[in-house]
Amino acid sequence: MSEVLNVEEIFGSKVFTLGKMKERLPRSVYKEVTKIMEQGGELSLAAADVVAKAMKDWAVENGATHFTHWFQPLTGITAEKHDAFVTHPDEEGRMLMEFSGKELIKGEPDASSFPSGGLRATFEARGYTVWDITSPAFLKEDAVGVILCIPTAFCSYTGEALDKKTPLLRSMEAVSQQALRIVRLFGNHEATRVVASVGPEQEYFLIDREKYLQREDLIFSGRTLFGAPAPKGQELEDHYFGAIRERIGSYMKDLNIELWKLGVTAKTQHNEVAPAQHELAPIYETANIAVDHNQLVMETMKKVAGRHGLTCLLHEKPFAGVNGSGKHNNWSLGTDNGVNLLDPGDTPNENIQFLLVLACIMKAVDTHADLLRQSAADVGNDHRLGANEAPPAIISMFLGEQLEDVVKQLVETGEVAHLLEGGKLETGVSTLTDLEKDATDRNRTSPFAFTGNKFEFRMVGSADSIGSPNTTLNAIVAEAFCEAADILEKADNFDQAVHDLIKEYMTKHQRIIFNGNGYSDEWVAEAERRGLPNIKSMVEAASTLTTDKAVKLFEKFGIFTKVELESREEVTYETYSKTINIEALTMIDMAKKQILPAVIRYTRSLADTVLAVKEAGADATVQSELLGEVSAKLAEAKAALIKLEKVEQEASSIAEPKEQAFFYKDEVFSAMAQLRAPVDALEMLVDKKVWPIPTYGDLIFEV
Ligand code: ADP
Ligand code: MG
Repeated sequence: MSEVLNVEEIFGSKVFTLGKMKERLPRSVYKEVTKIMEQGGELSLAAADVVAKAMKDWAVENGATHFTHWFQPLTGITAEKHDAFVTHPDEEGRMLMEFSGKELIKGEPDASSFPSGGLRATFEARGYTVWDITSPAFLKEDAVGVILCIPTAFCSYTGEALDKKTPLLRSMEAVSQQALRIVRLFGNHEATRVVASVGPEQEYFLIDREKYLQREDLIFSGRTLFGAPAPKGQELEDHYFGAIRERIGSYMKDLNIELWKLGVTAKTQHNEVAPAQHELAPIYETANIAVDHNQLVMETMKKVAGRHGLTCLLHEKPFAGVNGSGKHNNWSLGTDNGVNLLDPGDTPNENIQFLLVLACIMKAVDTHADLLRQSAADVGNDHRLGANEAPPAIISMFLGEQLEDVVKQLVETGEVAHLLEGGKLETGVSTLTDLEKDATDRNRTSPFAFTGNKFEFRMVGSADSIGSPNTTLNAIVAEAFCEAADILEKADNFDQAVHDLIKEYMTKHQRIIFNGNGYSDEWVAEAERRGLPNIKSMVEAASTLTTDKAVKLFEKFGIFTKVELESREEVTYETYSKTINIEALTMIDMAKKQILPAVIRYTRSLADTVLAVKEAGADATVQSELLGEVSAKLAEAKAALIKLEKVEQEASSIAEPKEQAFFYKDEVFSAMAQLRAPVDALEMLVDKKVWPIPTYGDLIFEV
């Protein structure tokens, strides 16, 4: 028997939870802290000192030597700079570990090297990190030792957000305020705030570390830049939900333990569609904590992989020809007195508040489909959205049969005369219980699907932060709520006004509803007829951030200033160019130093064989033909390599960020594909023994 794991005991053991605060803080300070968590405001410096001391004592008892302000710059990942609790020794040379309230609340990481899109001139590189009191501090333990991590927001000297968290927190306040106005209209006076909740399902690949280390493309870009398909792909669908192999299982077990200790509610695990692909989903929680925790999940996935001789790939498209990875962002809004605004109940037709919320979300998603699309854009996701893999880059909403029918009736007649029911699920087996069926079947191809009491935004990329998608969701819905509340608060006849407004919104925005197959070509054509945007790439999506419509939205609710939006657009271009540049240089390097030399050696041995066979008086046609084929592909690869080198140089000399990013997308990216094609063809021709890097078969079937 293996040791019994006490999950209840280890859960949150590395987190400075409310429970620990309650235990360690004087009552008055504890009360001050929880009040600010719920209602906002600033902690007094005196109280901060007390919290800091308690936090430090707890951390030190658990082996911590350093603390860090843990933040989320625009790189999309997290950043940390460690400071020891060490202080000046006294006259006798004794040193006491200390941590002050000031150090807890504010840090100054002098972070001139983070992307800022020109927000912070390098010569005055002041950046501040500010404690996010609503997200608990935790301990990170690895070879560096134990570090107390304090979740923070990251701002410039002049208060501009330099990170993903600040705007998210602002958007949560905005949507809370506006949603409160809506619930008040329906007589809810007890709720004091409305909380956005998020549960992100995280997909990932695991491959053997030894093999990973043999591929520069995986090391430098996180994805394969070359690689012919293996004889088997995912066509048998035998990996999805398949039995989990021992090596992977032992990884998952370790991963869960690490996450539970960090207070992450790792809940569901399974094999995904592609070979070597897996998924982990936690239980949903408050949006900003979910964002922090998703970062921890990604980080822990990578760290734990190392211990098992594995490497975790979070890239959206590590392997061509099999599914890539995404992140399903489940999102809902609930009042602090327990009402989920997205819960239709058994009779959605009678739930006017729900119908209004739904109408507002339809309006928000239709009006700002471009922004929502942008919020899920990252370099890797360009390989999925609208490219060679679903989901499409077109935003649409799936409501399911029952709700779609409700919307249809409302639009047509203004009334809902009948409700489609789920009925019983009859299995035809007497020993199996008949189940109540959901009124709605699932749709797996919709980018924004209603799933019972939440929306599932499925476009998000696996490697990306979920900060932006949730900021955008909160913002656009806040705007729709605000506009509805503006009208309804003034109405003389509320019942009539709300009825009219629901009908109006649903009629105007019904084009965003699509319940069919979102992966089909027909949908692309149909969406175009409906006038829905189809933004195919990250660089094309970037400018949606700075349209008048977007600036108006984000400024109105204090989520982004125009300057912050411009900086984000610029960072997008820079990130794109840098990423593609790395990929192009990696391809050039691999082709020049590994692949072409190997193929040349192979042609040499083929040529020797041809001569030897001829000399022996036999027919060397097959050998000569193969030599001819390989040489032809080799020439093609060489020409493509020269072309790629040329456009890559041209690209790096372009100074204007937007122009440069588009050049990378249009010229460099296609030159990369042109080099990949003959190289992949060569892989199929050349003796496996001489092929210099592990193949797809080695990578995804032999884990
Ligand atoms: P599904 O099978 O519909 O994908 P799951 O129950 O597996 O649903 O949940 C997927 C994710 O959605 C999980 O992270 C779960 O915690 C989260 N989730 C469930 N209910 C809500 C909700 N009301 N708001 C936000 N996320 C939710
Ligand atoms: Mg799901």
